[in-house]
Amino acid sequence: MKPSRTISDKAKLITVIWLLLCCGFLATTLVSYFVSRNAIYESITTTELPLTSDNVYSEIQKDLVRPILISSMMARDTFLRDWVLGGERFVEPLTRYLKEIMAHYGAVTSFFVSEDTRNYYSTDGVLKTVKTDESRDIWYFRVRDMSEPYEINVDPDLANRDTLTIFINYRVLDYKQRFIGATGVGLTVDTVNRMIDDYQQRYGRTIFLVDAKGKITLSGKISDDSDGITRAAHSSIYDIEGLREQAAAILKAGSGSFEYESRGHLNFLNVRYIPELKWYLFVVKQEDRALSSIQQTLYLNLLLCFVITAVVLLIVHLTINHYQRRLETMATTDNLTGLANRYALDILLDQQALEASRHGSPMSAIMLDIDHFKTLNDSRGHLAGDEVLRGIATTLKESLRASDIACRWGGEEFLVILSNTDLAAAAKVATTLCDRIAGNHYAFNGSEMVVTVSAGVAAYRKDETRESFVARVDALLYQAKNEGRNRVCTEAESVQV
Ligand code: GH3
Ligand code: MG
Ligand code: MG
Repeated sequence: MKPSRTISDKAKLITVIWLLLCCGFLATTLVSYFVSRNAIYESITTTELPLTSDNVYSEIQKDLVRPILISSMMARDTFLRDWVLGGERFVEPLTRYLKEIMAHYGAVTSFFVSEDTRNYYSTDGVLKTVKTDESRDIWYFRVRDMSEPYEINVDPDLANRDTLTIFINYRVLDYKQRFIGATGVGLTVDTVNRMIDDYQQRYGRTIFLVDAKGKITLSGKISDDSDGITRAAHSSIYDIEGLREQAAAILKAGSGSFEYESRGHLNFLNVRYIPELKWYLFVVKQEDRALSSIQQTLYLNLLLCFVITAVVLLIVHLTINHYQRRLETMATTDNLTGLANRYALDILLDQQALEASRHGSPMSAIMLDIDHFKTLNDSRGHLAGDEVLRGIATTLKESLRASDIACRWGGEEFLVILSNTDLAAAAKVATTLCDRIAGNHYAFNGSEMVVTVSAGVAAYRKDETRESFVARVDALLYQAKNEGRNRVCTEAESVQV
């Protein structure tokens, strides 16, 4: 198991998992975002904006159609016409008439302007005389010359402290269809404006009314101008960025759904023609406002995906590390005794041999083999033999220094490597180990066992191969066995334990 290979394998696995999670999460998050966005777009253009438009239209109708009917009735009233044709002699009957109209129908103002005298009659009598050269009176001359029976005009009302008022200006004709003046009522735009404001605030929409020439006649309060519409700055839809290019086509089409981009924001527009006013109702909804909630969901989802991906990757990383360590331990440790196995010893012994050769320091090895172990296995059972092997391993671990290495070399053979230890010292260690092992009582199934071991001890020779070193120690162990067991054989001598 080469560590660099393992690391690159792990990195590859983590990268693949990361890519899979990212792709999966991103795909599902983005697909659901775009599906929701399309559904929102669809609902804005097919339901939301037309519904707002319907509601505003019916409110406007309620507010404006009645005054038009009243004005029409006034223009056809025989009293009014007879009074004018009779020479406008007494003002009082007319002011009473105008007062009655105003009070009865709840208008804010009612008026009559005579073509003959140019007198402007209001509920308080003659208010002024209209003059061709006065800008505030232009409306009268426009009405006089127009072919339509009436017009709707938004102007400040002189009779009403200049409050912005919607006037219905109706042409009055005598019985021979000659123009004899203009009459009508006025109503404050506050009601319409308030309603528009209310819609704007409640539903985040911009609502305004536009005349046939594209002039913005009425609008609610506009808090920001991201949709390109500001009451102060724009008096016409031709001044609105993004809408300018389509304005003529929109007015020509009269009604429908449109989209325009203003200052980097997409806006949905629903237009509806109001025949009673000869105006167009514009309802605008900005994409950002419509999408803000699902955008927040998108960001939250992405954050969740990021957190989940990070947690999964961390778990994968920790799990791999855990199993990697376990595999490494399993590959290098003997299961029964917990000592290093032969594979681990090969690596460790090579390292120690290299160190010893480089520094010229002594290194020795002891090979131990249990005497007549087969007999013990046969008489007490294999499990009892295992207990003895575990006991000897414990003795070895307890007796050796941290820098020494003990390994289970074979079935019941142990190899001990002693760094910085010469032959004489190693022989002493071997004798101690043999004594301790022989002095132990190994308990199994209520009875105790005693074993002896034989040992071979050799010192490492500079630049010697591992195989030759082990072979020499093994040969000395063989010698100890031959010489009668329960003894230590060093390179030069055989020591009776
Ligand atoms: P000698 O004194 O010559 O070493 O005699 P011996 O009986 O110990 O002979 P040998 O070394 O050839 O026998 C090894 C025995 O060790 C044979 C085998 O059953 C036993 N053995 C090997 N591995 C294990 C093990 O993991 N557990 C147990 N219980 N016995 C084992
Ligand atoms: Mg053996
Ligand atoms: Mg043996």
